[in-house]
Amino acid sequence: MNCKSYNQLKNFLIENNLKVTKQRKIIFDAFNSIAGHFTVQDLYEKLTENNLDIGMATISRTLNIFVKCKIAKGIKVGNKMTMYENNNGEHYHLRCIRCGRLIEVKSYRMIKLIKEISRDNNFNFVSSTVIISGLCEECKSIKGDIV
Ligand SMILES: [Zn+2]
Ligand SMILES: [Zn+2]
Repeated sequence: MNCKSYNQLKNFLIENNLKVTKQRKIIFDAFNSIAGHFTVQDLYEKLTENNLDIGMATISRTLNIFVKCKIAKGIKVGNKMTMYENNNGEHYHLRCIRCGRLIEVKSYRMIKLIKEISRDNNFNFVSSTVIISGLCEECKSIKGDIV
């Protein structure tokens, strides 16, 4: 199941006994207009800027529905923090442990390897999340403790 259009999302909600609400439509539109990686807080701020009063809990719940119907990907970055993004194609992440920056990388070799590993284990590949932790170019040269 993939909910690229709002109608598909609506069907998904109905099939899973979830409420079709105005808020979910608003979150769906905001989600589709946001680029790159964002947190629940980021989306909340974007909606607030547009005078839309939707709580963080509702946003969080709705984003998890988007993950289930595969339009969004949730990437766990550190302590209880999840970043979301539009699920548009396989890519991998380098995460800076100092500034938290996520850098996207596409790697044909990586996809090939992951599919190979899946096949070797009689496993049907659907999607993968790879996070490489380290220091980004800017943070590499900073001395001192990592917070
Ligand atoms: Zn950094
Ligand atoms: Zn990404």
